[in-house]
Amino acid sequence: MIKIKSEKEIELLRKAGEITRNTLLEVEKHVKVGVTTRQLDKIAHDYILSQGAKPSFLHYGGFPATICASVNDVVVHGFPDDTPLSEGDIVSIDVGACYKGYHGDSARTYPVGTISADKQKLIDVTRQSFFEGIKDLKAGNTVGDISSRVQNYVEKYGFGVVRDMVGHGVGRDLHEDPEVPNFGYAGLGPKLKAGMVIAIEPMVNMGSYEVVIRGWSCKTKDGLPSAHYENTILITDTGVEILT
Ligand code: MG
Ligand code: MG
Repeated sequence: MIKIKSEKEIELLRKAGEITRNTLLEVEKHVKVGVTTRQLDKIAHDYILSQGAKPSFLHYGGFPATICASVNDVVVHGFPDDTPLSEGDIVSIDVGACYKGYHGDSARTYPVGTISADKQKLIDVTRQSFFEGIKDLKAGNTVGDISSRVQNYVEKYGFGVVRDMVGHGVGRDLHEDPEVPNFGYAGLGPKLKAGMVIAIEPMVNMGSYEVVIRGWSCKTKDGLPSAHYENTILITDTGVEILT
């Protein structure tokens, strides 16, 4: 069932979104050659607590950390560890903050030092595919409208959109209905209504869309890099509001 949020709930979701956004800005400052994703995890963890919120991912389904840190061919759900980031890596950071029972969910992919032009293109197309997905979007559109716009944009560049994982509703639960795939057909899927809050999160592979999933581990099948961009948004009668 897709929940319509009340004004009061939307206020809390705005606050959770703001903390989530600021957590990523804090982490971004520290992404550089030699830093470990465990260090980035601690920065995110401490920042979220300092804002009176809780890390949404920590212990969620047994997840061991505050952030997902997914390097190069790791698509999503990477565990922070003690491996220093290297020149030319890309690292996707996904984080959620829970404020008074309501979640924010957001992800970005960052370059480490100087990266190849191909990797920069992957990051840029992934980010822009989110903005293509929400262009002119408002109540009355369908989930499939988002899906098809993301897919069409990404595939123009010869990149692959991951099928095995999708966006989702956000609220009291980190993952609510509806599912928001990054592939599909315009006009299909659940109709969007004012007051719905959803996370749109394109996961884009430089090569094939195929991934290999083992437990939490999710890597591209062909070993090529993958990028991620996610925001939690509110659907309104006239458009969307990005909460993160
Ligand atoms: Mg996320
Ligand atoms: Mg998400």
